[in-house]
Amino acid sequence: MAERSLDALIDALRRLPGVGVKSAQRMAFHLLQHDREGAQRLAQALQAATLAVQHCERCHTFTEARICGTCSDAQRDARQLLVVETPADQAALERTGSYRGLYFVLMGRLSPLDGIGLADIGVHPLLARASDGLVHEVILATGFSAEGEATAHVLAQALRSLPGADGAPLVVTRLARGVPVGSELEYVDLSTLAHALSDRR
Ligand code: ZN
Repeated sequence: MAERSLDALIDALRRLPGVGVKSAQRMAFHLLQHDREGAQRLAQALQAATLAVQHCERCHTFTEARICGTCSDAQRDARQLLVVETPADQAALERTGSYRGLYFVLMGRLSPLDGIGLADIGVHPLLARASDGLVHEVILATGFSAEGEATAHVLAQALRSLPGADGAPLVVTRLARGVPVGSELEYVDLSTLAHALSDRR
């Protein structure tokens, strides 16, 4: 019985990205041997977060409210919409302190090999969000991996046909190069990211 619980724990830990059998075993042994209190906290935090956290109706980022704090902040510039792959990328751009507009979080990127297509990354909600009549510019800030570039390309084509604020076509821009090829935004240093934002084209 004890072993069955242990196997179930190791199996559960293996669901985490990048965690194989050996790491999962190490984590399980560590928690049971040295940190049972931490294990209880982890279990409770997982339980609470999976029940409470949902997606913002406007930008799709994680939030416990219907509309997230950023989307409901009247100080943010509603004329700019920055499209990122993940909440981690959004957090990285927020840390630069140089962006005051709003966001749309794709929660992924196009990846035909993994069967992730346009519908999976929320392209229809994005198109609806971008044509709310207030957005003037959409800044594509998907990563500089091959898949991130492909995602930006496809989204740019779809977005350019939409009307923006005052009926003028949407202005669609892309983060400037300078960010190393192949990189995920969340790992790029802040000043590089701030420059990529200000030099967008
Ligand atoms: Zn939001």
